[in-house]
Amino acid sequence: MKEIILIKNGELALKGLNRSSFEDMMIKNMRHRLSSLGAFRYEKSQSTITVIPEDENIDLDEAVSRLLKVFGIAALSRAAVCEKDIDVIRNTALEYLGEALSEVRTFKVEAKRADKKFPFTSPQICEEIGGWLLEHTPGLRVDVHNPDLTVTVEVREKSAFIRGNQLHGAGGMPVGSGGNACLLISGGIDSPVAGWMMAKRGVRLNAVHFASPPYTSELAEKKVHELLGKVSEYAGRIRLFTVSFTELQEAIRDYCPEEMFTITMRRFMMQIAGAIAIRENCGALITGESLGQVASQTLHALGCTDECAPLPVFRPCIGMDKNEIVEISRKIDTFEISIRPYEDCCTVFTPKHPRTRATVELARQAEYKIENREELIQRAIDSAVLKIIG
Ligand code: ATP
Ligand code: MG
Repeated sequence: MKEIILIKNGELALKGLNRSSFEDMMIKNMRHRLSSLGAFRYEKSQSTITVIPEDENIDLDEAVSRLLKVFGIAALSRAAVCEKDIDVIRNTALEYLGEALSEVRTFKVEAKRADKKFPFTSPQICEEIGGWLLEHTPGLRVDVHNPDLTVTVEVREKSAFIRGNQLHGAGGMPVGSGGNACLLISGGIDSPVAGWMMAKRGVRLNAVHFASPPYTSELAEKKVHELLGKVSEYAGRIRLFTVSFTELQEAIRDYCPEEMFTITMRRFMMQIAGAIAIRENCGALITGESLGQVASQTLHALGCTDECAPLPVFRPCIGMDKNEIVEISRKIDTFEISIRPYEDCCTVFTPKHPRTRATVELARQAEYKIENREELIQRAIDSAVLKIIG
């Protein structure tokens, strides 16, 4: 039996004149995700995109599970395709959905008729198909208000589609429709979630990771690659820049007041990531910060880091509790990777008593203690190594 995948657009259906280009963006993203499975054709009509496998051996289960992670898709379903003949539709519906129907108690049929020349009206199609399925499925009842399974029959120009319940898509906006931003990714729980949340709003991600070898290990870097690999299943291709932060961290340790270590480090991160982000055409930075989570994430401290950021800083986790962030990290499968215990540059030289009420003035003073900071910042920017993820 020939099967296809039907995609329902989400919010992008509301975007007026941009709709078509958003749909094209979503199709491009779907193509990228499915290309390794075989050849597919994509057809647009109203608020539906039809994905048609061009080869019989394509693994549609895998295609569906990948598409469930493409932002912009509100709902999707597999559908059987058959000839536009009421007998053929009846038999195909039973063959395709008979097993699913035998596992539920109630159902209803919905019909859509794009081809107005089809000799049955929509209510007649429902009656014909519903009656046939009822007759051939012992114990099944009709419930038009709250059915366990809804059988949808669509009669289109060339053929008829038959499908069962839809699956919820990932929602959001197609990646690319919201511009580019640069995620500061640590190996922790929060930053991958923050990246995922912004990708959901259509942002294409670049990423910067600060590594401090030999204080941080190669395993810590590998962890970041794996985390971004999971995020890229949703966000598509991610350009990761790994920056060597060792020299700056040692300078902070040697010259800055201990209580200002973390804030000074964050300020350098913002300046370095900001310069890379601007060079890579990004319009914002993204961090996984959450208000009050640690001393460097109080209102005062965030004010100190923002002050030297050359771009707007998006912090999608800012109002979330840790358990809410963890819930998302489990959903996107980053949690188990994040909790691997490798040292991050933030845990190297951690102050015993970080200052929670830092002022911009104190932060500047601490930073200016490092006389060759401009040179060290430039060297860090130049040290960035690019790796493409996804
Ligand atoms: P968790 O709080 O679970 O450890 P986290 O590592 O994301 O997660 P913090 O260490 O509190 O959180 O750091 C706050 C933010 O600063 C991170 O969310 C991230 O955006 C940025 N950041 C921290 N360390 C690094 C790093 N090594 N490279 C790039 N960005 C970093
Ligand atoms: Mg954090």
